[in-house]
This record gives sequence, C-alpha cells and structure tokens, in this order.
Amino acid sequence: LAQLFRPLDLLGMVYRTIRQGAIDMASMFDLIDTRAEVVDTPGAPPLAITRGAVRFEGVRFGYDPDRAILKGLDLDIPAGSTVAVVGASGAGKSTLARLLYRFYDVDAGRITIDGQDIRAVTQGSLRAAIGIVPQDTVLFNDTIGYNIAYGREGAGDTDVRRAAESAAIAGFIERQPEGYATRVGERGLKLSGGEKQRVAIARTLLKNPPVLILDEATSALDSRTEADILDTLEAVERGRTTIVIAHRLSTVVGADRIVVLDDGRVAESGTHAELLRRGGLYAAMWNRQAAERARGDEAVAAE
Ligand code: ADP
Ligand code: MG
Repeated sequence: LAQLFRPLDLLGMVYRTIRQGAIDMASMFDLIDTRAEVVDTPGAPPLAITRGAVRFEGVRFGYDPDRAILKGLDLDIPAGSTVAVVGASGAGKSTLARLLYRFYDVDAGRITIDGQDIRAVTQGSLRAAIGIVPQDTVLFNDTIGYNIAYGREGAGDTDVRRAAESAAIAGFIERQPEGYATRVGERGLKLSGGEKQRVAIARTLLKNPPVLILDEATSALDSRTEADILDTLEAVERGRTTIVIAHRLSTVVGADRIVVLDDGRVAESGTHAELLRRGGLYAAMWNRQAAERARGDEAVAAE
C-alpha cells in the first residue's frame, strides 16, 4: 500500500520544491518525506553570506528515529575550498547535502554557513545560496533557453548565452535550427547525458551560488564524457565553497581535502596522497577501483 502513495507524496514534494525555486534538487533526492515540513522560524533574517564557509558540527540525523544515518558528523569546509565526500553507497553522502539544503533538520548538532545556524535563517535565502548539480538532470518540456534561464529569475538572453558558453554547450545549441528556442524533453530534442549535465551546469552558473554541491554529478556518464565535464566543473568550482560527492574516486583526486564517510562519521580525512599513504579505507577503495579500471581497459583493448 505504501507503494501506492509514493507517487502522490512525490508530486506534493515536487510541487513544494518547484514553489521554493529548488527544481534542481528534485532529481537528486528521494523525495519521500514522512517528517514534518521544515518551516522558517518567525522573524528569521536572511542568510548573510560573507565568504561561504560551511560547517557540520556533531550532526546526528536519521530518517527514522530508530535508525541513525549520521552519528556525530564533524565537517569543516573552508570558504572557497573543495571538499570531496566519498564512502560506500548508503553511507549518508546525499543525506548530508539534503541537510545542508534544509530538506530536513538535524536531530542534534548544527550546520552553519558563515557562522549562522541554517535553522535560524529563511529557507529562501539559504537555498538561493546553494547550487546543486545532481546525478541525473531532469529537464522541463520547454525550450533549452528556458531550461538554462531557470537558474536565475529575470535572466536575459545575454546571461543565458554566457552561461551556455561557460558550460561548453553554446556551440551545440547554436547548431540547432531553432537555437535557444529548441524544445527539449519528452516531445522535443533528446539530449545525451553529457548535454543534460551541461545544461544543469549552465543553470548553476547563472544562479552563481557561493556554495556548490555536486552529487555524483558525472556518475551517469561514460568516462570520456566525464573527463570533458570535469574540466568544465573545475571552472565552476573556482572561487566557491564546493562539496563534491562521488562514488567514482577518479573524480575527487584534485580536491583540497577528501573525507571518507563510514558508519555515520568521518572515518578518514586528507588529500588523495595522504589518504593513499595511510593505507586505510580510502586506499582500499582506490586500489579496488584502479583494478576495475585496469580490467575495463583490458576489455576495451581486446575488442
Ligand atoms: P548515499 O548518498 O551515501 O548513497 P544516502 O544519504 O542517500 O546515501 O542514504 C543513506 C541511508 O539513508 C541509506 O540507507 C538510505 O536507504 C537511507 N535513506 C535515504 N533517504 C531516505 C528516506 N527518504 N527515508 C528513509 N531512509 C532513507
Ligand atoms: Mg547519494
């Protein structure tokens, strides 16, 4: 029976999400929510962003009271730096992003941006400060221009074009007979995974958020497309506080710091080189994935 209600819940959540100007989140989250909706405290001021430093302090959280997902998480993401969060599937990586976006409130501890508890500021201002590039980008059944302009209310054609250029999708769009007026989505032009990710990146560039979350943003792409997109993302990350969530470790090597999430806590933290030297969880994950890559290459070479 619960299955029957899921689509309805989902619709309600998607509606609220759109209303809150957070469509970029709709695809990255399991939008099934049995908890009370998060609301602004009366008289809450807007978030005052100075540098965009993000901190998780002793954060505890579970979707169900009897099953903790985060068990006292401490995470310091200095303004302008890139921190990668890795860990097994189900470790709570996306949960961390959902909490920062305040889809849920923490059970204990706190999350701050520039020293302000995110529960004490308006949700609108919080969500305006955060941009997300999800694993699978969902496009509206509308023009490609609309899909990019969605990143910022009132964006003009020039802004849209500039964002498309930075996301390396402008050439593709201009080659279409109808250019930015080309319809995409179900009844329109079908975009590849890489093209959709570029639209999401353009949208995010237009939003120009001081805090950026990439949640497995390239995991649905083949490795060549991924390599292309990673170059573009590097440009997007520059000057912003960035959280890169990744299962594929090849995408996190360059992060200022890598954090391994295990059993609801930070199990290891350091640069790629430091974590390899340490010979712990990260090193084991890296070696396993390197072996998989080598096997994949052999298979390709044998074709
Ligand atoms: P990751 O992104 O690291 O793969 P998630 O943060 O998505 O993991 O999920 C962490 C755990 O929380 C998983 O065991 C998952 O099944 C559970 N979970 C995720 N979303 C919900 C939800 N809406 N309700 C209940 N449990 C959930
Ligand atoms: Mg996830």
